[in-house]
Formats: sequence, structure tokens, C-alpha cells
Amino acid sequence: MIYFIGAGPGDVELITIKGKKLLENCDVVIYAGSLVNPELLKYAKDGAKIYNSATMNLDEIINAMKDAFEKGADVARLHTGDPSIYGAIREQMEALDKLAIPYEVIPGVSSFSAAGAVLKRELTVPGQSQTIILTRVEGRTPVPEEESLNALAKHKATMAIFLSINQIEKIAGDLAKVYGSDTPIAVVYKATWEDQKIVQGTLSDIAEKVKEAGICKTALILVGNFLSDEYDFSCLYNKTFSHEYR
Ligand code: SAH
Repeated sequence: MIYFIGAGPGDVELITIKGKKLLENCDVVIYAGSLVNPELLKYAKDGAKIYNSATMNLDEIINAMKDAFEKGADVARLHTGDPSIYGAIREQMEALDKLAIPYEVIPGVSSFSAAGAVLKRELTVPGQSQTIILTRVEGRTPVPEEESLNALAKHKATMAIFLSINQIEKIAGDLAKVYGSDTPIAVVYKATWEDQKIVQGTLSDIAEKVKEAGICKTALILVGNFLSDEYDFSCLYNKTFSHEYR
């Protein structure tokens, strides 16, 4: 069996119990070395065969899985955060389907949740936003025109932008035109890692601050008025509200 496991955002305690148990029992581990915390490998069993997929192409990854499966070994395939978000797991799963190799996906704590936690903010505060848009800007992977930042910004929802910190200046400029230049924005570098950094500002000054902090990768951009000091209390804990959802 192949287990695609969400390794969480960085802190080794943020893998799920299920993911950790599987990692402890698999004979082969393939981890996404550029983002998965290597400290997680301490949970792997003694003598487990470890591959770093940062240096492998899709064929090599599938071959390693196939090889293990044919020997009766289980594989823990560790992806950063939650594997369903920019995880490139679809093509791996389809390749396994073709080979009739069974697999399961174990979700993980995505970096956008981790960023909300370290910022100590609710991403969906009443009175500001009840919607979270997870997106990225075009890099090597194109983004459909309908999903351009300009189009998404019109909703003024909470936005978490992945894989795009190297374009912070352009992003802040584009968003300012729609959200307004004094809208708050936060950049979280390596949320929950020991060297985590948080930079906060507005759409007009964030690019400069990010440059000063020397952040150019592994960062999430969070934009929206959920970061402001104004919001409404939720009806959930309101004294006069019925309790069925508490
Ligand atoms: N599946 C992952 C995302 C993979 S794409 C998840 O659910 O989080 C890689 C991008 O995720 C990075 O470019 C960065 O934008 C973001 N990212 C991953 N881990 C992060 C972390 N610990 N802190 C901040 N951003 C992170």
C-alpha cells in the first residue's frame, strides 16, 4: 500500500496521529525534501529506505513505489501541508491506478491553517469575510485567466496566496487597486518552523518589508480585512442565540 501523507506545515507535532503511525510502520519513505521538515524522518522505522523526491522526477518516484510494492513493502509518501493543495499528487495517483497499486491519502494541516494559527487570527471573522480563497499567481504553472488576482480580488474575501512570494511587489500592487492600498496583509515565512518569520503591513508597504526581512521563498501571503482590528462577534456564542451548533 502507498500512503500519501500530509506532513503538516513544519512543526513535527503537526502531522496527524494517523500519518505518524503509518510513517512509523512503513518500510519505505519518500519525502518532498524541499518543504517537508526532515526532522519528521525520526519517526520512520529503523532501517527504512528513505528517498528525497526533490531530486526525483515522476517516473523515478513511481518506480520507487512500484519496486517497494512488488517486494510487499508499504510506502509513506510525505507531502508538505495537506497533499490536496498544490501537492502534485493527482498524477502520482493516476500512475498507481494504471499499475493497480492501491493507495490512500491522509490529509494534513495546510500551511494556510498554520499561518492563521501563528497570526492568532480567525480567517472568517463575521463583518469582514466569510470566504477564504486559496490561490497562487502564475509561475511555471499557468493559472486560468478567470482566476487572475484581479478577478478574485473583487470578492474582497480572505485570500491565501501560495507559491508566489517572489512576486510580492506585483501582487500587492494589483490587489491594492481592488482591496484598497491600506488593506492589511501578512506574510508568514515557514509557519511553525523554528526559523518562522511574520511580516505584517498594508498593501502599500508590505513589499518593502518583505524585502528587508529577506524573505523570498516558503512563505504564504494572507490578505484581507480579517487582519484588521474591526470585526463583529459571531452569533455562535451569543447569549440570545440557540445552541444547536455549539
Ligand atoms: N500542500 C501545501 C502547499 C504546497 S505548495 C500546503 O497545504 O500547505 C508550497 C507553498 O506552500 C509554498 O510556496 C508556500 O507558499 C506554502 N507553504 C508551505 N509550507 C509553508 C509554511 N510552513 N509556511 C508558510 N508557507 C508555506
